[in-house]
Amino acid sequence: MSASNVRVRFAPSPTGPLHIGGVRTALYNYLFARQHGGKLIFRIEDTDSNRFVPGAEEYIIESFRWLGIDFDEGVTFGGDKGPYRQSERRHIYKKYVDQLLAEGKAYIAFDTPEQLNEKREQIPNFQYDATTRGMMTNSLTLDAAEVEARIARGEQYVVRFKIEPGEDVHVDDIIRGDVVINSSILDDKVLYKSADQLPTYHLANIVDDHLMEISHVIRGEEWLPSAPLHVLLYRAFGWADTMPRFAHLPLLLKPTGNGKLSKRDGDKLGFPVFPLEWHGEDGTVSAGYRESGYLPQAVVNFLALLGWNPGDDTELLSMDELIQKFDLSKCSKAGAKFDYVKGWWFNREYLLATPALKLAPSFVDLLAQHGITTTAERAAAVIDMMKTKNVEYVDAQSGQTKKRSVSFIADLWPLCDFCFIAPTSFDREDKFVKKNWKDDSAAVMSEVARLLEGLDDFGVEAQKAVIDPWCEATGAKPWNAWRVALVGEGKGPDMYELSAFLGKEETLRRIRFAIDNL
Ligand code: GLU
Repeated sequence: MSASNVRVRFAPSPTGPLHIGGVRTALYNYLFARQHGGKLIFRIEDTDSNRFVPGAEEYIIESFRWLGIDFDEGVTFGGDKGPYRQSERRHIYKKYVDQLLAEGKAYIAFDTPEQLNEKREQIPNFQYDATTRGMMTNSLTLDAAEVEARIARGEQYVVRFKIEPGEDVHVDDIIRGDVVINSSILDDKVLYKSADQLPTYHLANIVDDHLMEISHVIRGEEWLPSAPLHVLLYRAFGWADTMPRFAHLPLLLKPTGNGKLSKRDGDKLGFPVFPLEWHGEDGTVSAGYRESGYLPQAVVNFLALLGWNPGDDTELLSMDELIQKFDLSKCSKAGAKFDYVKGWWFNREYLLATPALKLAPSFVDLLAQHGITTTAERAAAVIDMMKTKNVEYVDAQSGQTKKRSVSFIADLWPLCDFCFIAPTSFDREDKFVKKNWKDDSAAVMSEVARLLEGLDDFGVEAQKAVIDPWCEATGAKPWNAWRVALVGEGKGPDMYELSAFLGKEETLRRIRFAIDNL
């Protein structure tokens, strides 16, 4: 296939927030399209009106905008193969249903839900297929006049695909190879419902992939069981020659590795399973990667490596590098464990690699929530001072307090409150204060204050130039008492750095306050 013929699609049903597995599917489609100079199409599969959720479509579009995954054609993106929303394509599908009916590849069935239930009760593992269709109410068992009369009376019906039993159906899957399923296990799937005059997912999906000239169907493993039916539909329509190639991506598994990743795992262990925060109609709010402080590039990088790797141990890959290196055929067949702690690590790496001034706006917002007003430059200075520190967090599984490297902007607050709020009292029982504010500390810190007072430039180097020689000459070690004065407890950055950030006036004020109050 020549490069320009690559056309792939992401085709979500707008039934709620997009699951992180869906984001990974879209990302792989994006990487594949970009590396082949092809097109990525955004199609909305909304033929099941019962499951339609308002706002879901906008949510999905906003998620990809945030992640930097852009589409070439589709809903809101335009293109000459639209409309791209299936509910706006009703007029297109009927013709294809009629084609299958005319060729005897599909049939009309009148069985009511009650009748179907009755059969299910009578026959163990009932399935509507070659072995049972002869005892049902359909155009194969009724004569043509009766079928017409029923339709004329306004009786509701469905159109079912007539699957010929006993054939090995081959699905040529780029990741899984030749997947063979015998047609006898398939049921005569409903392709169309007269009640809402809409095709079902299967028919609309195949017709649209054909009309939109899709070259590769890259989607989640949960769709693999539908693939043999899809292959049979392409053949029934006479489109076998232009059938897209399939690639069914590995499942995302729970962090423990057993079972499919679910929203409950995220709630239990404290990680989002949605790209953006989602506000449910019932008032519930589900966490999103964006609102939880993840950087979009970190999420992209993390997801890209869930089911694929570049074949060496490189882990940090920009979008451009991913586009270059991604190899659909090297995706794993086995499910990928959702290691959310690895997600923290990615975020930390991207946090460290991003200029502090770019991160500053979100930190300014966070500080505002704590009643602190500051500038982007001040916020950036604190980020640079504190970003390599460790922070305590409560492990959701064990309830234990543990430590990790700063991985999110929000991690900074408990580490840096003293940058903005001066100690107003000292806890003499605090271990660090007790141990480090000694009998001579007031005298030592008075001398530090006297030396610093003479400085015009209050930068780290200027402070060092007066303090270090004095320490050497007298053997003074003012650091911990200095920390008590500026911070009030045993945490925080290097004292020169903190003093430089606070400035001369505030540094001297805090030192004098400590001398007076300790
Ligand atoms: N509408 C399906 C979904 O919600 C699309 C499946 C496919 O890609 O064929 O995932």
